[in-house]
Amino acid sequence: MKLTHDYLQLPGLFYSELQPVPVQNPKMLVYNDALAEELGLSDDKDAQLLYFSGNAVPKEARPLAQAYSGHQFGYYTRLGDGRAVLIGEIEKDGALYDLQLKGAGRTPYSRGGDGRAAVAPMLREYLLSEAMHALGIPTTRSLAVVKTGETVLRQIPQEGAVLTRVAKSHLRVGTFQYAQEKGGNEAVRTLADYAIRRHKIPAGDNPLLSLFQYVADKQAELIAAWMRIGFIHGVMNTDNVSIAGETIDYGPCAFMDTYDENTVFSSIDRQGRYAYKNQPRIGQWNLARFAEALLGTQDEAEAQLPAYEKILTQYEKRYKEAYYTGMAAKIGIADPDASDRKRVDDLLAAMKKSGADYTNTFVALTRGETCTATQLSEWTEDWKKRLTAIGETKEAVFARMRANNPVVIPRNYAVELALAAAEKGDMAPFHKLLAQLTDPFCYDQPTDPLYTMPMPAQERQRYQTYCGT
Ligand code: AMP
Ligand code: MG
Repeated sequence: MKLTHDYLQLPGLFYSELQPVPVQNPKMLVYNDALAEELGLSDDKDAQLLYFSGNAVPKEARPLAQAYSGHQFGYYTRLGDGRAVLIGEIEKDGALYDLQLKGAGRTPYSRGGDGRAAVAPMLREYLLSEAMHALGIPTTRSLAVVKTGETVLRQIPQEGAVLTRVAKSHLRVGTFQYAQEKGGNEAVRTLADYAIRRHKIPAGDNPLLSLFQYVADKQAELIAAWMRIGFIHGVMNTDNVSIAGETIDYGPCAFMDTYDENTVFSSIDRQGRYAYKNQPRIGQWNLARFAEALLGTQDEAEAQLPAYEKILTQYEKRYKEAYYTGMAAKIGIADPDASDRKRVDDLLAAMKKSGADYTNTFVALTRGETCTATQLSEWTEDWKKRLTAIGETKEAVFARMRANNPVVIPRNYAVELALAAAEKGDMAPFHKLLAQLTDPFCYDQPTDPLYTMPMPAQERQRYQTYCGT
């Protein structure tokens, strides 16, 4: 495996060099052959097990844990990789990809934690991130999950696991907050130069502002994509906002089934700060914290403020644009006007009133199935008239809807069943679900009803997702 260690060129305050802590009895649970091939990895099975458990590192590797801070549920905290180790980067087509082991043991940033991760949450991250990728949404990827043969103590004892995560980088808004706190403007500038080079960001004569614009645009697009697909991240803390614009840190995230904009799944989000409907606004709040970190104590900070505020305002516009364009495509419309925006809002209101399933409603519309709920049938009448007025062929409309309305998403119920089986040693349901999730727009083949049904009512009552512990 050929690795670079680009991150080491940053000043030492940004990381601690250390080795992953070896594990007792590693066993490969899942390995992503397709991703390995994309990255040009050709390790044999023995080497895979050694590297992706952390029991050995490639010869030239100089592993490290990254330092960062973050606003968690609104409160600023010093964090860092408490249980993750960056092994190095892999070069592919002129870009670098981080190879990071999550659950690789204690680091100087572990605080009270054990530095480990458990099988179910790591397999969950694998399923959800690979599903997101198949849905066309920017995300970190999952290369492997190895179980460790060790017990980790959570609410109940669980088997330990190490997930290998691949990312365009692990730079976060929180990395900049840390830079400002620890090293002031100079450290921020150094980190910004690194980010700009690493992500090939076009930078004019104000590089910090160019970086801000880039990240704001990426977040607007990303969060619009989440909203369209019914994804709730669950912990949109600033340490979980990737500078590269990827979805990162699959903790208590989940996909909404019955449409309700107030949906919250996370057991730790008691106030609903990160509820479905709040995500766009929180994205903007996180960007404001990013602006503060970038501006810091610069003499000219005040004079620069309006330029940053302008980008924050643009973010809202850009988000809405991306959201409505994508939502309109879901109902087969290419260039939405104001009436189509309202049509989208009305559809969601009708779905809420009738307790409809978000994903399945769009699938039914795509398949031309009749919706029986009164609110939806009224809406459908109006929508059909609109499509006729636009006058595109049925095929064009259908193709657009098919490409934007997945049949299969990682529904909580099916995911939980697959994880429960995996914990008992049966990986078959996991692999079956994974295969289906990597082919989400499958209108031509039949799908197992387990993957398309909402969570049974009695299960929903008690369903919450827990942080990726
Ligand atoms: P997360 O909720 O995964 O974004 O994690 C928030 C912070 O807690 C990060 O700094 C993690 O590295 C740290 N952390 C989470 N779990 C553990 C653990 N088991 N041991 C040490 N640190 C942890
Ligand atoms: Mg995090």
